Amino acid sequence: MNEATLDNTTRRAVDLQIVGGGLAGLLAANLARDAGLSVRLIEKQTTPGGRASSAHHEGFTLNQGPHALYLQGQLRSTLRSLGIDPAGSPPALTGGTGTIGSRRGLLTQGPGSLVRSTLLSRRSKVQLLALLARVPGMDAQDLATLTVDEWLERTTDRQDLRWLLHGLVNLATYNSAADLASADAALSQLQMALGDGVVYVHNGWTAIVDALRSRLSGVDVVTGRVTELVVEPESQRCVTVEGEHRAANTLMAVGAPAVVDRLLGTNLCDAAGPPVQASVLDLGLRRPPTAPVHLALDRGLYFSIHSVAAGLAPTGMTLASLAAYRRPGDDRGAPDTKAALLAHAADNGIGSDDITMERYLHRLTVTWGMPLAARGGLAGRPAPAVAGRPGLYVAGDWVGDRGLLADASAASASAAVAAVVADRARRADRAHQAHRTDRARQADRTDRARRADRAHRVDRAPRADRSAGAVSR
Ligand SMILES: Cc1cc2nc3c(=O)[nH]c(=O)nc-3n(C[C@H](O)[C@H](O)[C@H](O)COP(=O)(O)OP(=O)(O)OC[C@H]3O[C@@H](n4cnc5c(N)ncnc54)[C@H](O)[C@@H]3O)c2cc1C
Repeated sequence: MNEATLDNTTRRAVDLQIVGGGLAGLLAANLARDAGLSVRLIEKQTTPGGRASSAHHEGFTLNQGPHALYLQGQLRSTLRSLGIDPAGSPPALTGGTGTIGSRRGLLTQGPGSLVRSTLLSRRSKVQLLALLARVPGMDAQDLATLTVDEWLERTTDRQDLRWLLHGLVNLATYNSAADLASADAALSQLQMALGDGVVYVHNGWTAIVDALRSRLSGVDVVTGRVTELVVEPESQRCVTVEGEHRAANTLMAVGAPAVVDRLLGTNLCDAAGPPVQASVLDLGLRRPPTAPVHLALDRGLYFSIHSVAAGLAPTGMTLASLAAYRRPGDDRGAPDTKAALLAHAADNGIGSDDITMERYLHRLTVTWGMPLAARGGLAGRPAPAVAGRPGLYVAGDWVGDRGLLADASAASASAAVAAVVADRARRADRAHQAHRTDRARQADRTDRARRADRAHRVDRAPRADRSAGAVSR
């Protein structure tokens, strides 16, 4: 990070300071800088990136769990608006398999694999084809107050098809709480997945973070944990151990809404919904597994090869990413969950002799807020502008009415910056108007004074003339 160029105790006030240097914060800093704002970014870690950063381990590049970039999502379009187009390749899905109970079959990628698949009954296949034709034209907002379960119950009476759709929703949203989650978010994700689909980003998501960091010249980047935020008239002061930082506007992009609530005294956690979590296992393999993708559709288990599309493994090796979706209140311990994931790998032809590297992370927060049907779905999440708190904004994967996962972080970061820019333009306009009014009043006063002066002189002149005339006569 750039080191402090200014006095560390009280830095110059900027137009916008951003707390948190994950994707939301980095995107906001880039957008705000490009819009001509003076910007400060405060990140507590020495390396920014948050959950989008990748680690290097025994020659493998490991994202924080399996990450896929939605080609029609807000993250990609925001990156492109900044001139960043992350290289990536679609996952190899051909030959992908799924299980429902003990039944195993091909995952359907299109009519061909659908006909061959033994995963679904004939009637379910017919229903699935009809549904796939309908999905692109459906309006997600119509489903905002339905849970995923309610939507699937209305969609099909076939239990095997419900499990398949359940598995696809898990895959697209990371969310297995189908009795709580709103169907609008699920449908939007499915529409994108079935549309242009996803890519696995070459060299890991850290490539996106690096591209965003490389554009930060002019932004005051500070390493420090913000422990207090003091709101003053027309400005805010962020307090870190190292010093204080003042700005006209502050964007909290700290990930967890609980951190925002603590620093701002708000209660955004409730509106954000419960966090969506997962346990992840990365396996370095000597040889490829039986299928490139393998999903236990009714048990919420995921397996996919990320290295072939994204180049995340050393030559001759394969990186498999596994995940177990966790619903709120899931208290499975680490040994059980890891054992279930290893059994899932074994079900896909991977024995312990095939594994050269493993990394298990027990409980990662994928999204800090689940859109809930009971709260009206995506529209029920907190807005980027904090209500009743001028100058304060939030961004993250639990904010705003657009997108899920990193797309929500990108959409809310863009919306927050747009709001700051619009507010600044409004203030400038008001100041300009006030200045013009002042000048007009001043001109008016000057004019009146001149007229009064002229009148005064005219008034006095005849008397002078009269007296001059009197003398000459
Ligand atoms: C297992 C897993 C799989 C995922 N898969 C996908 C996927 O396939 N597709 C997708 O789009 N998304 C996916 N995501 C989600 C995606 O990674 C996140 O939505 C995104 O990275 C969140 O970015 P953010 O900036 O909002 O939050 P974060 O990345 O959490 O960033 C917050 C930052 O704020 C900093 N911070 C916190 N408190 C303070 C403080 N007091 N002072 C200063 N700094 C502070 C933190 O250090 C952090 O850097 C996945 C996530 C996980 C965990």
